[in-house]
Amino acid sequence: MLPVVALVGRPNVGKSTLFNVLTRSRDALVADLPGVTRDRHYGVCHLGERPFVVVDTGGLSGVDEGLDALTAQQVRLAIDEAQALVFVLDARDGLLPQDRSILDELRRSGKPIIAAVNKTDGLDEQAALAEFAAFGIAATLPLAAAHNRGTDRLFAALLPLLPEDAHEELAPDENDSIRVAIVGRPNAGKSTLVNRLLGEDRLIVSDVAGTTRDPIRVPLERDGRKYTLIDTAGVRRKARVEEAVEKFSVIKTLQSMAAAQVVVLMVDARENLADQDLTLIGHALDEGRALVIAVNKWDGLDAYQREQCQRALERRLQFVDWAKNVFISALHGSGLRELMRAVVRAHASATKELGSSDLTRTLEKAYQSYQPPLVRGHAPKLRFAHPGGSNPPTVVIHGSRTKHIAPAYQRYLENFFRKRYKLEGTPIRIVFREGE
Ligand code: GDP
Ligand code: GDP
Repeated sequence: MLPVVALVGRPNVGKSTLFNVLTRSRDALVADLPGVTRDRHYGVCHLGERPFVVVDTGGLSGVDEGLDALTAQQVRLAIDEAQALVFVLDARDGLLPQDRSILDELRRSGKPIIAAVNKTDGLDEQAALAEFAAFGIAATLPLAAAHNRGTDRLFAALLPLLPEDAHEELAPDENDSIRVAIVGRPNAGKSTLVNRLLGEDRLIVSDVAGTTRDPIRVPLERDGRKYTLIDTAGVRRKARVEEAVEKFSVIKTLQSMAAAQVVVLMVDARENLADQDLTLIGHALDEGRALVIAVNKWDGLDAYQREQCQRALERRLQFVDWAKNVFISALHGSGLRELMRAVVRAHASATKELGSSDLTRTLEKAYQSYQPPLVRGHAPKLRFAHPGGSNPPTVVIHGSRTKHIAPAYQRYLENFFRKRYKLEGTPIRIVFREGE
C-alpha cells in the first residue's frame, strides 16, 4: 500500500502550497475538467521516485490554541496513519512558541520528522535554517514551495523513511485477476455488496485478514473470471465486530484506488450525489483508474424516482460520461452480473494494447478532419503517436507548438481515440512531446 506523509505546521506557513505542488495532477486536462471536485487535503504525489499519499493537516495551530476537537482528531488520525511527518515552518516568521508545542506533539508520535523551512526565496538559506537548528531535527531543509524549489531535497530525505516495499508485490494468483476497489461514502452499501459477491464461506477466510491494518485483498471468482477485491471495508466490518463503526478513511480509499485497476464507486440512489462522491471520482481520475458507477438501493424506487435519479446522474457526471452507470441492489443481488460485466469491460479497455502505426494513422485522421486553431499565424503540428502505457491507456503525441493546444482540442483528440478503439470505462491520457 502507498505510504503516507502528513504535512503539519501552523496556519500560513505554506502547507497547502506545498500540498498543491506535490499532488498536482499528472494530467492537466483532468485537473480542470468542469465537474471534478478536487480534494484539498488528501492526494497522491507521483513526482519523486516513489508515490505516496500526502495529507495536508490544515490548521493545526498548536495543541493549546483552542483547536476545535474535530480538526484535532483528524490531524491525529493523519499523524497516526503517516510513516513520515513533514513539519512545515516559516523562515520569515522565524521560530515561534507555537512551533515548539507542535513539535512536542509530533515527537510524541514517535514518527520520523523532516523540518521544511519554507519561504526561503530571497533569503540567505543558511541563516534561515540556523534559527531552527535549535529543534535538533537532523533533516532540516530549505524550501520555497511557491516557487517549487527544494522539493528534490525533500524527496531525497523522505525516500529512506518510506517503507521499502511501496510497490506491493502481487501474489501469484493476483496476476491474472482483475483488481477492483469498491469505494463510496459510508452507508452506500459497500459491505452489503462485498458480502453478496463473496457469499458466506469467504468471510471466514477474511476473518484472519481482518486483523491487519492494511486494506484487505480478497480473491473472488465469478462466472469463470478471477477478481481481487481491494480494501472492502465491509469484509473487515463483518469480520471484526468491534470495528462495527469503522471511520470513513480517505487515506485507505486512496491506497485502495492506487492498488486497483478498476474503481467501483458506489452511490446511494436514494440520496443526491454529494461533493464527497465527486471528490472520490476526482481521485480515481487522478490515479488514471478505470471507473464504474454502481447506483445502489435501486430496489423499492418507483418509476418516477428512477427517472429523476438517472437524470441527475447524467447531468452531474457528464465529465465522466464514458463511465457506465449500473443500477443495482446489493441487498437483493440484482444487477450484479451487469456490474461485473462493466468491470470486465472497463478493465479490458484500460489495458488494451494500442499499436504505434495505428495510433499515428488515427492521429492523422483526427488532424485532417479538424485542425487545432492557429497560434500567431502558425498551426500546431501533430506528427506521430505511440503508446505510452496502459491503465490508463496513454497516447504520446509528437509535434510542434503542442504547448498551445487548447483543452478543447485535446478533448476532441481524446474522443477521437476513444471512438476508434472503443474505449469504455477508462480515462485516456494524452501526452504531448515537442519535436522529433
Ligand atoms: P497554510 O495555511 O500553511 O496552508 O499556508 P498557505 O499554503 O496557504 O500559504 C500561506 C501564504 O504563504 C500564501 O500567501 C502563500 O502564497 C505564501 N507562501 C507559500 N509558500 C511560499 C514560498 O515558498 N515563498 C513565499 N514567499 N511565500 C509563500
Ligand atoms: P457501507 O457503509 O457502504 O459498507 O454500507 P452497508 O453495506 O453497511 O449498507 C448500509 C445500509 O444500507 C445497511 O442498512 C444496508 O442493509 C442497506 N443497504 C445496502 N444495500 C442496499 C440495497 O441494495 N437496498 C436497500 N434497500 N438497502 C441497502
